[in-house]
Amino acid sequence: MYQIIDGKKIAQEIKEELREKVAAWKEQGKHFCLAVIQVGNDPASSVYVGNKKKACAYIGIDSLSYELSEETSQQELLELVEKLNVDDKVNGILVQLPLPKQIDEHKIIQAIAPDKDVDGFHEKNVGALCVGSKGYVSCTPLGIIQLLKRSKVEIEGKNCVVIGRSNIVGKPMALLLLRENGTVTVCHSRTQNIKEITKQADILIVAVGKPQFIDDSYVKEGAVVIDVGIHRDANNKLCGDVDFEKVAPHTSAITPVPGGVGPMTIAMLMYNCVQNAM
Ligand code: NAP
Repeated sequence: MYQIIDGKKIAQEIKEELREKVAAWKEQGKHFCLAVIQVGNDPASSVYVGNKKKACAYIGIDSLSYELSEETSQQELLELVEKLNVDDKVNGILVQLPLPKQIDEHKIIQAIAPDKDVDGFHEKNVGALCVGSKGYVSCTPLGIIQLLKRSKVEIEGKNCVVIGRSNIVGKPMALLLLRENGTVTVCHSRTQNIKEITKQADILIVAVGKPQFIDDSYVKEGAVVIDVGIHRDANNKLCGDVDFEKVAPHTSAITPVPGGVGPMTIAMLMYNCVQNAM
């Protein structure tokens, strides 16, 4: 029988731990504030931003909300980021992605002060992860490491395969698994004989961005499978990059969608905000 890795429960545990710490630190006069910027009113972004603000309120972090119009220019957004960079009351800055097409996302991310970049997307933080020094780490992969550790999944010495090499999931995921002494392989759209590689995985992390792409033919018997994907299926039901029904019986542990990786991303954003204020 396989274990369902309960991301909702683990995320709640982390939020409770943070809430207690924040309350204690506030008594010592410390202050926590996250600035959240949304440009335009993409419905999915509005849901994510709303959830982030709710999590801040729960933990005791103040949130400053900036809702800018879809027509905002790159210069206007850069000016706001600059203002927040030098505002001592603000510990963390989050610009919700994607941004409208007139704005260069890379330019905006690089404009955020690295010590306020709670998403961990700035090149300085990515570089720090690469060389093993202190810095902010992208929340989704950071959350996956917590899911594995708190579910007592050993990473050290294990064959870890990551499908996907995006800057926000696949690449930092591979670096974090390496930091935990896993033996790491990264697959992508040009990988040949991908099943031969994924069938070697003790831990398979799927961030391919394609609904129910991974079935049991990709998975070694008894592997741990982490599904990063979020999609709507033909019946408008949430599903992941993994075909859960087909894959789960062949695993020792697996994350569901919803209730797996998703809740961890917000919990780790809160973790990053709190680290920043310390
Ligand atoms: P992405 O930027 O689209 O990257 C997808 C990766 O998959 C790319 O590296 C791509 O390879 C690779 N790929 C595509 N087709 C492939 C194939 N047939 N075989 C092997 N590799 C293939 O996506 P992302 O931002 O990393 O996100 C991945 C998924 O996670 C999405 O469903 C996204 O919605 C979800 N997500 C969830 C959370 C959460 O909090 N739960 C957070 C972030 C993302 P190339 O590089 O060669 O193109």
